[in-house]
Amino acid sequence: MAETIFSKIAAGEVAADILYEDERAIAFRDVNPQAPVHLLVIPRKAIPTLNQVTPDDASLIGHLFLVAAKVAAQEGIAETGYRTVVNCNAGAGQTVYHLHLHVLGGRPMQWPPG
Ligand code: 5GP
Repeated sequence: MAETIFSKIAAGEVAADILYEDERAIAFRDVNPQAPVHLLVIPRKAIPTLNQVTPDDASLIGHLFLVAAKVAAQEGIAETGYRTVVNCNAGAGQTVYHLHLHVLGGRPMQWPPG
């Protein structure tokens, strides 16, 4: 599995502003925020894109969403609203090939997204 900046963050080799971590997932602030609150939730397991998720990962994927809701509440955006996004492959804007959930909030969101 190719190393990415996120696998290095998960391994503690690259610093990040970590808000939550456990044995399966880590949540940290995006270095280039697109909203007043912009967090990333990643699995420790290196899965490149949503396309490589298998039925064995079902519980892990659910866990990522539970962590997203937890950190959204921690950041005070749970009630006003927030968006979760998974970009899959380059055409959708994916740049880091380690599965991650964006959590964006703190401003009104547009629909449809660009
Ligand atoms: P993608 O475009 O792959 O869906 O999202 C990757 C996200 O990772 C981008 O929003 C980008 O700003 C963020 N990012 C890239 N490198 C780093 C880094 O080294 N640290 C942190 N905290 N975020 C990063």
